[in-house]
Amino acid sequence: MRPTSETLRHAALDQLQSRDGQLLIGGESVSAILERVGRTPFYAYDRQAIATRVAQLRAALPEGMRLHYAIKANPMPALVAHMAGLVDGFDVASAGELRIALAAGMAPGCIGFAGPGKSVPELQAAVAAGITIHAESEREIAILHDLGSRDRRPRLAIRVNPAFELKTAGMKMGGGASQFGIDAERVPALLRSLDTARVEFRGFHVFAGSQNLSATAISEAQSQTLLLVEQLAADAPGPVAELNIGGGLGIPYFPGERPVDLAAVGTALAQLAARARRTLPGTRLIIELGRYLVGEAGYYVCRIIDRKLSRGRVFLVTDGGLHHHLAASGNFGQVVRKNYPVVIASRLDQPPAEIASVVGPLCTPLDLLADAMLFPQAGPGDLVAVLQSGAYGCSASPHGFLGHPEPLEILV
Ligand SMILES: *Cc1c(COP(=O)(O)O)cnc(C)c1O
Repeated sequence: MRPTSETLRHAALDQLQSRDGQLLIGGESVSAILERVGRTPFYAYDRQAIATRVAQLRAALPEGMRLHYAIKANPMPALVAHMAGLVDGFDVASAGELRIALAAGMAPGCIGFAGPGKSVPELQAAVAAGITIHAESEREIAILHDLGSRDRRPRLAIRVNPAFELKTAGMKMGGGASQFGIDAERVPALLRSLDTARVEFRGFHVFAGSQNLSATAISEAQSQTLLLVEQLAADAPGPVAELNIGGGLGIPYFPGERPVDLAAVGTALAQLAARARRTLPGTRLIIELGRYLVGEAGYYVCRIIDRKLSRGRVFLVTDGGLHHHLAASGNFGQVVRKNYPVVIASRLDQPPAEIASVVGPLCTPLDLLADAMLFPQAGPGDLVAVLQSGAYGCSASPHGFLGHPEPLEILV
């Protein structure tokens, strides 16, 4: 089948707002934001877009289901503080993220700490803070027993590596051998070995994958998660207070990708919640999302420094690049490089005029933000914006590579 212009379109372009040819972020023009920030390159995050996304989710989720934000998607402290007023809890993956979560004002009882390789000081900090630790190994469980006492029992949940995987996930985290979680078949014996005089058993956590756009695949993994936990609960030393069923909802990055059918995810979750009320009465169900909450609310803005012609091709050379936005360059988990949605943010009122590539200032051909895309005619001084940049952007990029200035970040 020949691709049509519809299947080749970036879905995010349909959401763009502009005034006088200028990209609007949170209702403000990109040049007004630039004046306040002082220089390019910068990331801008739209606080209203985040609130709207959370509200859409709340409307789709069954009553009583808790919504957590996974901080690693975007740990900017101001954004996390904004998020603290919107969601029911945070998931952290390091002691550094834990400090951000606590500083944002989230109650310790609503913070979960997952991730392999937790160090003893990290576990001590987590126990001292009173958050729930999602144990990823027998070693972590043993350390928590050592740290625990009758007066202060560490809150312990078990992260399970299920035997199933989230089909068609961008990044798989379950199914076979994995550094994440404890293999499901080893969990019953572990549960029987817990000493509840030294640790407080809280429940289970299963995270089967990331960046999934298929409501069917997401719902299937969530329902398999519930089945698995129903079985494991038989060996638990007490009631399952919490079940974190993961998330993995993706956003459309590349041409032809469509947003997740949130209504379908919600309908399946309502059935799952109804079943859990029977099979695991009193268990608090948690869905944890990173990218889906913040990814579409973020923009990476840089400035064109030079316009070069080389053997018939146009290169727009910017002051931004892969050192700030590794994912947009295609070097953060992509197998075949595809273009993120990229626009000339200062010329949104002008028609497409030429095919050009947007590149960064680094001395490597990998430093590519847009490969042969259709743009209006643009040159030095113009602003370029990479859309869908609110998750795994700034904090997931090698800022030190080649010694250019750090990106700035602003919440508008
Ligand atoms: C990374 C991660 C998340 C967030 O994933 P998204 O795809 O950004 O929603 C949630 N839970 C765990 C355990 C993770 O490691």
